[in-house]
Amino acid sequence: MKPFTAQITHVYHSGFIIETVNHTLIFDCIEPDKSLNVTGFNQRDIYRKWINSRNNVFVFVTHHHQDHFMPSVLDWNASNPSLHIIAGYDVPIKPSQNCHLMNPSEKLKINEVSIEAFGSTDDGVSFYVQVDNMSFFHSGDLNWWHWNEFTSQQLEQEELDFKNEIQQISSKIIDVAFVPVDPRLEEHYYLAGEYFVETCKPSLMVPMHFGIHFDITQQFSNKLSHASSSIAVLENSGQQIQYVKK
Ligand SMILES: [Zn+2]
Repeated sequence: MKPFTAQITHVYHSGFIIETVNHTLIFDCIEPDKSLNVTGFNQRDIYRKWINSRNNVFVFVTHHHQDHFMPSVLDWNASNPSLHIIAGYDVPIKPSQNCHLMNPSEKLKINEVSIEAFGSTDDGVSFYVQVDNMSFFHSGDLNWWHWNEFTSQQLEQEELDFKNEIQQISSKIIDVAFVPVDPRLEEHYYLAGEYFVETCKPSLMVPMHFGIHFDITQQFSNKLSHASSSIAVLENSGQQIQYVKK
C-alpha cells in the first residue's frame, strides 16, 4: 500500500479487512454460513493472506454476537504472536499482553495505532481507529434500531440513544466509516447511515450488516446521492475498494 491509501476488503456482513501502508486492521470477521452459498471467502484464505507471518495485524471484535465474533480469531493470536486482538468488554476472551478488552470511552495506544471505544445501541462497543495518518470508524451494532413492531415510546428511545452516541463521535475526522444498513428494518434501513453521514461527514461510508442482501447498498447509495460523503456499493464477498485520502 502507498501512504494515504487504504485497501478495504469486504469479508461478509460487518466483516472488513483494511490494509494501510504499514498495518492490517480486521473488523468483525466471520465466515458466512455454508448454507447461504456466499462464494469468495473462507477462513483459510483470510489466514493465509492476511494473518500468517504478517506484522502489525490488529483484529477488532465489537461485541460477542455470533454475526460479529468468530471464536477462531483466538487461534490467529496463537499462531501469530505479534497479532493484537481488541474486543468489546462483552466478548468472552481472556485479556493478555496482546488481547485487550475495552469499555465505551476507553482509549488505547498500541505501537502506532490509536484506538478509542465508543458505545453501542446494542451490546459491546464501536471503534474509532487512527493509524498511518488515516482514521476509521466501525459501528458494530451501533444502529438506529427503528423496528416497525416497536411502540412509539420505544422508537423515541432508540432514536435518542442512537443520536446521543453519534453526537460524541461527530467531532472526529473520519476517512472511512462502516455503518449498518439493515434490511430487516424494512423502509427504515437507511436511517442510521443517513444520520451518520449528515452528522459525522466521513469521506467514505461503507454500508454493512446486510448479510447476503448486497442490493441494499446500491439502494442506499442512490438514496444518498446528494450526500457529501462517497458511498460504497458492495456486490459480493471478497470485493475490494481502494480509498485514497484527499
Ligand atoms: Zn449485529
